Amino acid sequence: MMTDIEIEAIKDLLASPKKITIIPHRNPDGDAMGSTLGLYHFLVQQNHEILVMAPNEFPDFLAWLPASEKVVIFEKNTETCTEILNKSDIIFTLDFNALHRVGEIMERTLSKLDKTFIMIDHHQFPDSFAKYTFSDTKYGSTCEMVYHFIHQLNQQKLINKAVATCIYTGIVTDSGSFRYPATTSTTHRVVADLIDIGVENSKIHNQLFDTSSYSRLQLLGRALQNMKLMLENKTSYITLSQAELDEFNFEKGDTEGIVNYGLSIDGIDFTAIFIENLAEGIIKISFRSQGSFDVNQFSRSYFGGGGHINAAGGKSDKSLAETVIEFERIVKEIKK
Ligand code: 5GP
Ligand code: MN
Repeated sequence: MMTDIEIEAIKDLLASPKKITIIPHRNPDGDAMGSTLGLYHFLVQQNHEILVMAPNEFPDFLAWLPASEKVVIFEKNTETCTEILNKSDIIFTLDFNALHRVGEIMERTLSKLDKTFIMIDHHQFPDSFAKYTFSDTKYGSTCEMVYHFIHQLNQQKLINKAVATCIYTGIVTDSGSFRYPATTSTTHRVVADLIDIGVENSKIHNQLFDTSSYSRLQLLGRALQNMKLMLENKTSYITLSQAELDEFNFEKGDTEGIVNYGLSIDGIDFTAIFIENLAEGIIKISFRSQGSFDVNQFSRSYFGGGGHINAAGGKSDKSLAETVIEFERIVKEIKK
């Protein structure tokens, strides 16, 4: 929770109309888009000028979120977006806690700004770039934190169906449909309240998980066939090369969730997926674990990323083959 002093200061700040920009992390997921759009629908009821500005495109499976069509993309409209940022009074940063998570160019722009930053986030080790920081790793999603933030402001009456729909979406996606350990009784109480407010929960699950394309399922099939087991190290991993992505007409979001299959095998407590991105010249990596193996620490130490204990991201500048060889070597060394 934020302190009473912080909440009072934010209330004062929001008491008069402001120009507000709300920013999710780069490659935004359900929690990043849900929390930014949820906050948007909350603040838009109070005469502020508000914009959600994503560093880059968000995936199609989130394009049904209310007001997602109004989201502006920094990397596609850098000049206009920079102007907007320069004119903003308040900048909310949601679902990330270090400015580099927005990408290099946008990071440079943001770090030059002398504005009131407000951070809401649930990752470990927050940087201190914000004037007001609501950072707590015990929450399973930033969306759940936005719900509590609105309650702390004592404005829960403004949680309408649009706010609730966005918040519900991030809670579902970041909790793996309520199955990860950070899912608490409070999470379920929040969700119950959101359903009372009018969230069409079953429809949202359908929009998120039951709207695959044929090519996406074929890509999933290839990914599963590519899975390698390192049983002695309780580890599995999947690779997808750029050629394979092209073969199955990859679109943003198509690889979402594939990493989790690696953990569903008996005897595996650590898994990774390596996805080649030729345009960016990197291998994008996702790590997942079960139990005490800390993938945030693992990614920080070896693959320039981070995240949470059981879910983290990272990257590699090496080739896909070299990255995998390096990964195997590290795993054999530290997970005997
Ligand atoms: P994903 O594997 O889905 O990209 O990311 C898993 C989790 O780790 C998410 O909560 C995501 O925000 C976080 N994450 C992904 N990449 C990075 C990174 O480079 N640095 C940090 N600190 N967190 C990351
Ligand atoms: Mn999140």
